[in-house]
Amino acid sequence: MLVEVEAARKHYGEGATLVRALDGVSLSIDSGELLVLLGQSGSGKSTLMNMLGGLDRIDSGLITVASDRISDYGARQLLEYRRRHVGFVFQFYNLVSDLTAWENVQVAADISGNPFRIEELFDALGIADLSRRFPKELSGGQQQRVAIARAIVKRPTLLLCDELTGALDSKSAQVVLDLVKRINEDFGVTTVIVTHNEGIALMADRVVTLHDGKVTSNSIRQSPTKTDDPLAEENL
Ligand code: ADP
Ligand code: MG
Repeated sequence: MLVEVEAARKHYGEGATLVRALDGVSLSIDSGELLVLLGQSGSGKSTLMNMLGGLDRIDSGLITVASDRISDYGARQLLEYRRRHVGFVFQFYNLVSDLTAWENVQVAADISGNPFRIEELFDALGIADLSRRFPKELSGGQQQRVAIARAIVKRPTLLLCDELTGALDSKSAQVVLDLVKRINEDFGVTTVIVTHNEGIALMADRVVTLHDGKVTSNSIRQSPTKTDDPLAEENL
């Protein structure tokens, strides 16, 4: 098991304003898996993703990644963990506006010990022709593909994507999701996709559903398929 989460709790506020964002969450993720974390708004998905990514710490419970107990880490160790092991993709692409697409990815490659070849990633993501463009010269879907390249160039242990298609039209969203699936398969990057969109679950190896900070279902899909395959619903 690459990732183990055991009885993770994270609360915000207190008294009348107490929110149990994570209320005893346990799950595991296999190396190479593509996990979709599904749930309505407010169910705790981003909180869980942030804890997996070392952006914050749980109040109690345990999170281990590649046998390292990251839930015990202090701020400096978490920073190092994020830098070495985690690739983030968010809804908004957060590219550096005065760097080209290539340079945005180069910056991440430069602080990595063993980066993927940028050229290879740009080819895989279909953005080789766009490498000299600046973010404002790219569509949302194209910017998100650059953001994915930037997230994975360091060969992260975990690729964490939070509502990564939330700002995209459905066609660009489909392209981006298919590319994430390919990156997961071809480059072997263990991937978590956080979404409220049930359709996206069709591409997963495993689907975990959260509700009010609790896991309400956790199922392995037998034959993950493309998200636009209408027959795939039967496999859920
Ligand atoms: P999701 O990503 O599924 O929409 P979140 O993990 O963002 O859900 O939030 C889960 C719950 O925790 C929500 O009720 C949200 O308002 C609350 N919450 C999240 N982050 C904070 C925070 N920093 N301070 C207070 N409440 C928070
Ligand atoms: Mg969220």
